[in-house]
Amino acid sequence: MGGTFDPVHHGHLVAASEVAARFDLDEVVFVPTGQPTFKLDQDVTAAEHRYLMTVIATASNPRFTVSRVDVDRAGVTYTVDTLRDLKTARPDAELFFITGADAIAQILTWKDADELFSMAQFVAVTRPGHALSVDGLPGDRVHVLEVPALAISSTDVRARARAGQPVWYLVPDGVVQYIAKHRLYRGQS
Ligand code: ATP
Repeated sequence: MGGTFDPVHHGHLVAASEVAARFDLDEVVFVPTGQPTFKLDQDVTAAEHRYLMTVIATASNPRFTVSRVDVDRAGVTYTVDTLRDLKTARPDAELFFITGADAIAQILTWKDADELFSMAQFVAVTRPGHALSVDGLPGDRVHVLEVPALAISSTDVRARARAGQPVWYLVPDGVVQYIAKHRLYRGQS
């Protein structure tokens, strides 16, 4: 599951858990982006913070791991590079890339879009406030899954933290503590 994870929240975690159960996955690898392609104009939190928050958030689930491939690769993150690196690290693995409804809607604009579908199957999950459509995508490589609806976004968590509003129960407890300790999202959009 790729994402900016700025910060990781329960919407990400519940989606990952549901996909893991439904597709009987051995492992869900969370891959925080380096510099995200579609957020070049935004002030994205340092990759190391986003990586560590994802590690904290996933620590209690033995099936969840976090990969540094995108954080450690220089330059803008493209999913085609993510999948190449994951495939190199796990040559025998059958890969499923998990995306929310908003992300799958953009996928044909991603770099080397055709190649993506040969490298992995895609699981598009439902997300409140976003229509889920996989029209025009290869049906044998793209799956749709309804997941418990949590209307949480990282944008909202950041805005709440900035405004001094609570973010408890939107993100895991350890992530609340990490945000407070490192004073993240203060004076930033
Ligand atoms: P932002 O608000 O900063 O754009 P975000 O909440 O969309 O962030 P991302 O890290 O960009 O979080 O999302 C990573 C992946 O998780 C994307 O594929 C996204 O569609 C999916 N996702 C995010 N939030 C949810 C949610 N509440 N339910 C289901 N899927 C989600």
